[in-house]
Amino acid sequence: MALTTTTLQSGMTQIDTTTKTTQRSAVAVAQGDGIGPEIMAATLAILEAAHAPLDLRPITIGEQVFKSGNTSGIPAEAWDTIRETGVLLKAPITTPQGGGYKSLNVSIRKTLGLFANIRPCVAYHPFTATHHLGMDLVVVRENEEDTYGGIEHQQTPEVAQCLKLITWPGSLRLCQYAFAYAEAHGRKKVTCFVKDNIMKQTDGLFRKAFEEVAAQYPGIESGVMIIDIAAARIATRPEQFDVVVAPNLYGDIVSDIAAEVAGTVGLVGTANIGPNCAMFEAIHGSAPDIAGQGIANPSGLLLAAVQMLQYLGHSDHAQQVHNAWLCAVEDGMHTGDIYQEGKSEQKLGTMAFAEAVIARLGKTPTTLKPAQTGVGRIETPTPAAPKPVDKQIVGVDVFLHWDQSDRDPDVLANYLTAFVTPHFKLTMMSNRGTKVWPQGAPETFCTDHWRCRFEPTEQNMPMTQAKLLDLLRLLHEGKANIIKTENLYTFEGKAGYSLGQGE
Ligand code: NAD
Repeated sequence: MALTTTTLQSGMTQIDTTTKTTQRSAVAVAQGDGIGPEIMAATLAILEAAHAPLDLRPITIGEQVFKSGNTSGIPAEAWDTIRETGVLLKAPITTPQGGGYKSLNVSIRKTLGLFANIRPCVAYHPFTATHHLGMDLVVVRENEEDTYGGIEHQQTPEVAQCLKLITWPGSLRLCQYAFAYAEAHGRKKVTCFVKDNIMKQTDGLFRKAFEEVAAQYPGIESGVMIIDIAAARIATRPEQFDVVVAPNLYGDIVSDIAAEVAGTVGLVGTANIGPNCAMFEAIHGSAPDIAGQGIANPSGLLLAAVQMLQYLGHSDHAQQVHNAWLCAVEDGMHTGDIYQEGKSEQKLGTMAFAEAVIARLGKTPTTLKPAQTGVGRIETPTPAAPKPVDKQIVGVDVFLHWDQSDRDPDVLANYLTAFVTPHFKLTMMSNRGTKVWPQGAPETFCTDHWRCRFEPTEQNMPMTQAKLLDLLRLLHEGKANIIKTENLYTFEGKAGYSLGQGE
C-alpha cells in the first residue's frame, strides 16, 4: 500500500502524517468461531455501508482447521493470503480443549513478527457503566517475548520452569513504538510497567530500553512503575494513565483490567503491528455461551477495524465509522452486554446494532468526544546490532535434582565439595532462588531442585568452556543428578546473573 506521505522525524521513528489513500486495500478476513461469524458480518456490513475501499479476501483458520488435524489452525493457503495482503481482520477463534493445539494467536503474532499490541481502553460514560469517567488510556503491550515463548520444562518431580526471555531489540523496538504512538496521537505521558526490583536482569533490560527511548522524547513525560502497584492503580485510578508500555505478561493482564474498568472487554479492539504485516481483532474470545443467538456485541471487532482503516491510510472512513459508532452508543442503542435499564434506549441484537451504526454514518457525537483524524502507519526502525561488549565467563550455576538426607543443604554442600576440581569451588547454593548455603536459615523450605554455584578457586583465573565441561564430568562421575547449567557471564565487568536471595 503506497501511502502519500509527508513524514515526521521523531527520534529515529517515521510517522506517516497525511494518512490518506484512495486506493483499495486488500485485507485477509477470518470470520472466526463461536460469535465470530456474527460479529464479523455486522462489522463488514458497516464497513460496506461506509464505502470503505477494501478488497476483502476470506481465509479459513481456527476450529475447523484444528479439527481437520492441522495443530497450528492455519493452512498454508491462509498464510499466503495474509502475506500477500499484509493485513488480517480476524474474529475470535476457539481453541479446542485438550492438548496438542497451539495458540493460533501466538502463532500468527510470532510468525509475522507482530511485536506491538495496541489496546485503547476508553470509558464511554455516561452511556456505559464505569466509575472512571475520564478514563482514556492505551496499553502498548510487547507481543512476542517474555514467558509467552512458552519454553517450559518439568525438571524434577517437584519443580517446573518457564523461561522468561526479554531481549534488547524486542524491548527497544516496542518502547520506540510506544513513544512514537504517543507523539502521533498527541498523548502526553508514557508509563512503563515492570518488576525490576525483583527481576533485575530481564525487567531491568526492558526498563533500560524504555529509559533510552524516553530520553529521545523530551516533550513527552515518562515514568516507571512497579507492576503490582501499577495494576492496582489501573483498577482504581486509571485516569492517571495515558500510554502504558509493558512486557507481554503484564501488558496482557493490565489491558484486560483496564478494559473491564472502562466498561467491558466487549468494547475493546486491538491492533497487532509488525514491520510488514498487521492483525486487527477484538480482545474478547469466541464466547461460545452466546454463539448463534445474534446477541453478541460487535463493537470490539468494529473498533479494531477502525484502527485497521487508519493503518491503511483510509482515515476519513475510519473517522466516519468511529463517529457513527459513538453516536449509536450515546443514543442508547446498546447490545445486551452493555444495556442498562433506565439509561439505554433500546436493547439490540448484533445486526440491529450494526444497522443503528449504519443509520448514523455521517453524524458526529455530541456528548462523547468525537473521533480524531487517524495517524496512519507508524514505522519504527529495526534496532541496530549492539556494539561489541567484553563478555567473560566467570563461573557456572549447576542445577541438580537432589532429594536425600532430609534435604539438608550442608550434606549436599559437603558431597559436592568432596570431589570438585582444582579450578572451581562451590560458593553458593540456593533453593527456589533463596540462598540456603553457606549460612542458610533453618526455616527455609527446600524442594528437590538446587542451584549450585561454582566459581574459580582463584580470582582472576581465566575461565574456559573446557574447564566447565571438566567440572560437569566430575559431577557426573560423582553421581550428581544434573538438570541443567547456566554459565555466569560478566558484560563490561558487570555481573549478568542474579545473586541468591539473602546473599
Ligand atoms: P470470551 O471472551 O469468549 O467470553 C467471556 C465472557 O464474555 C462470556 O460470558 C461471553 O459471553 C462474554 N462476551 C465475550 N465477547 C462478547 C461480546 N462480543 N458480546 C457479548 N458478550 C461477550 O472468553 P472465554 O469464554 O474464556 O473463551 C472462549 C473461547 O475463546 C476459548 O476457546 C478461548 O481460547 C477463545 N479466545 C480467543 C481469543 C482470540 O481469538 N483472540 C481471545 C480470547 C479467548
